Amino acid sequence: MAFGISPRRDHDDRRGSAHSRGYTSAWQKARDVFLRENPLCAMHRERGQHVAAQVVDHIKAPRLRDALDSKDDERIAAARSLFWDRANWQPLCKLCHDSVKQRLEKSGRLSGCDASGRPIDPRHHWRTQAQGEGG
Ligand SMILES: [Zn+2]
Repeated sequence: MAFGISPRRDHDDRRGSAHSRGYTSAWQKARDVFLRENPLCAMHRERGQHVAAQVVDHIKAPRLRDALDSKDDERIAAARSLFWDRANWQPLCKLCHDSVKQRLEKSGRLSGCDASGRPIDPRHHWRTQAQGEGG
């Protein structure tokens, strides 16, 4: 086990500690197990490429910290279960993970998934971007 060699400092500080967003040691453990069972990047694998996964991504963002801030018990419970729901996890390489996150941050939020409870279909815009020129 070799944690502690990642040079990320002022990253997490700005938007609350990683811990407050649910990334506890329990999460690290679960993540390790998951990556051992799912060692290949899901997005690359769909394109037939075998790339080692390095991170576990939440397909649907649990937004645990927002839920905690809201002090709304129902929301917190929902965020927690989403956070720990393995069906909501996907193994990604760093490159794919960053590109997913950049997209999410640009669009602000994942609209149309929370209220209706419909799962997001990642395939939708990740791979059909050629059609939507000009946005
Ligand atoms: Zn990848």
